Order: sequence, then C-alpha cells, then structure tokens
Amino acid sequence: MNNDIYVVIEHVREQVADISYIMLAAAHDLAQETGGEVVGVLLGNDAQALADNMVADKVLYGDDPALAEFSSDAYTKALAGLISENEPRAVFFGSTTIGTDVAGVLSARLDFPMVSSCLKIADGKVVSQICGGKIMAESELADMTTIITVIPGGYKPEEGQGGSPEVTPVSVNVADLKVTLREYIEPEVADVDITTENVLIAIGRGIQTEDNIELAEELAELMDGAVCASRPVVDQGWLPTPRMVGKSGQLVKPKLYLALGISGAPEHVEGMADAENIIAVNIDPGAPIFDIAKYGAEVDLFDLIDCLLEALEDA
Ligand SMILES: Cc1cc2nc3c(=O)[nH]c(=O)nc-3n(C[C@H](O)[C@H](O)[C@H](O)COP(=O)(O)OP(=O)(O)OC[C@H]3O[C@@H](n4cnc5c(N)ncnc54)[C@H](O)[C@@H]3O)c2cc1C
Repeated sequence: MNNDIYVVIEHVREQVADISYIMLAAAHDLAQETGGEVVGVLLGNDAQALADNMVADKVLYGDDPALAEFSSDAYTKALAGLISENEPRAVFFGSTTIGTDVAGVLSARLDFPMVSSCLKIADGKVVSQICGGKIMAESELADMTTIITVIPGGYKPEEGQGGSPEVTPVSVNVADLKVTLREYIEPEVADVDITTENVLIAIGRGIQTEDNIELAEELAELMDGAVCASRPVVDQGWLPTPRMVGKSGQLVKPKLYLALGISGAPEHVEGMADAENIIAVNIDPGAPIFDIAKYGAEVDLFDLIDCLLEALEDA
C-alpha cells in the first residue's frame, strides 16, 4: 500500500460535479497526514479536458466508450482493477447517487473498509456526520486501503479548483458489462426553475401544514424569490418534485437561502451547501443546519414570517 489519496472524479454530461472539487480539498488535508499525493481518477470517453482546473498532484485518466456516461457496472469494474493494482491509502467517492452506487460494492468486492458521510478531515481523522446530522463520528484509517464517501458542507468547491495537474492515461478493463446506459430521461419540467433563482425561501417539515405554504409564497413574492423545500414537504405532495433541494432533488446556489424549519440533514445539505448566504431559522438550537448557516435565528418560523411580511409590506 502507498500513501496516496485517490479521488474518483464525478461528472455528468460533460460537467465535473462540485462534490469532486470538495473531495479534492478533503484529500489534500488527508494527504498532508499520510505524506502521499492527491490523485484524481477520471473515467470517461474523450473526457480528458475535464481534468483541467483540479487541485491534484496528478490525474489518472481511463478512457473507454463504455465510460462515456456513468454506469455502476463499468465504473466498478474499471476502479476495482485500478485500486487493487495501485493500493492507495484511501479512495474518496462522493456520497451521491453515483458515488454510493460504486463505493459500497467496491468495499465488499475488494474487502476494504469503508467510512461513510465524511464531512471533514481533522488531525488525520475522518469526521463523519451521521444519523441525519445529529451525531459526529471520528474514524481513524485502518491499516489498509480505506474507502471514504464525502458529503458537502466541510469544504468549498473552490478549495479544490485552480490547478492544472499532469494527466496520465491508464488502461482500464471494462469487458463483459451486464449493465449499460440506454437513454437519458430528462426530469419533468418545473413551473419554477429553482436552480436559477437568486433568492430561495426553503421550507421544511417545520412548516407543519400545506396551508402554511401560502405564507412562504407571500414572502417569496415580496423578496423576489421562489419557494423550494426539503424532501418531506415534497413527499407529502405539498410542492412538486422539481422544487425539492438535495440528494434526490436539485442542486441550488442562490445568493440567499432562507431555511425555515429545516433540520439540515446531509441529504438536504448536499443540494444547498454552496448557497452564498444561508440563513437558518429553527426552534432547535442543536439543529445541524446552524453549522453551515452564515446567520441563524433560534425562533419560531411563524413569528419570523409575520415580522418579515409586516416589514416588507411597509417598505
Ligand atoms: C436516500 C435518501 C435521499 C434523500 N434525499 C433528500 C433530498 O434530496 N432532500 C431532502 O431535503 N431530504 C432528503 N432526504 C431526507 C433527509 O434525510 C431528511 O429526512 C430531510 O431532509 C428532513 O427534512 P426536514 O429538515 O424538513 O425535516 P426534519 O428533519 O423533521 O426537521 C424539521 C425541523 O423543523 C424545526 N421546526 C419545527 N417546527 C418549527 C417552527 N415552528 N419554527 C422553526 N423551526 C421548526 C425542527 O426543530 C426541525 O429541525 C433523503 C433521505 C434519504 C435516505
């Protein structure tokens, strides 16, 4: 085993996902402890240019038509060969639909330990946010290649951007695949595109009833923004799916994200951690959303909405 930290670069439709840059930043912290290099692992087809703008010592690039789009089967096969041949100290995956699809399978197949939901590297330890953000767990690396899935919130994507690493082509084995991508199905068209809004009024389970959504809509109108929501609100059918923020929803980066009655579970934070200004409103002082918010108000959201509506209507 060597001391290098591998980062599996996630990209969709020719765009490197922010989680890849976040992982590169985390990998730098870990590599400082292990004394190894940060190595990006990029899989694709004619996708070498995606390696630009990465803060990595080098990038290993595996090219094959079967890797043109993500497929769990192709990625698992290609990475199993690469990781077992090179035996890095740790391999980072995004705690995303793509990353979790591959990381668990590789951990089982290669018999490597896995640490999930890493938020931060602190003093060489992996700090994970688990149980919906209610518990922080510290793990030390085992004495063998360790697989780590990373959640957003601990590093900014910009911390992993800006380099121009050397790209080394590597051969990957993706023969005899059982799963291939046949077609991309675009998500349903939204009434409002929350990914382009500057101001988002985000509501969570704390909004309590469907009727109360009207208050958030009123606020959004006065603030020239739109209403979005955490998953429980959408699961209840109170807002359409394209309004959902997070792992199973949209990735948003507004100038202002006003989170009303949202606890800040990792699956939600994944979709909004890079908002420019996060203001959290919650009656629970221990709610994890306060950890990533720029400003926090430990108040009843209905009291705050009343005051805000009054102030904005008078303005
Ligand atoms: C595979 C998977 C994918 C997921 N994908 C997503 C996703 O994409 N997006 C997503 O959001 N979630 C997702 N989830 C769910 C996620 O784990 C959380 O359950 C969810 O984000 C919690 O939503 P919430 O914060 O609205 O509710 P809760 O966690 O119940 O929090 C409600 C908060 O409201 C506060 N509150 C209550 N009343 C008031 C009041 N009057 N004033 C102020 N504060 C109040 C409470 O203190 C609490 O903190 C996913 C889960 C899984 C397992």
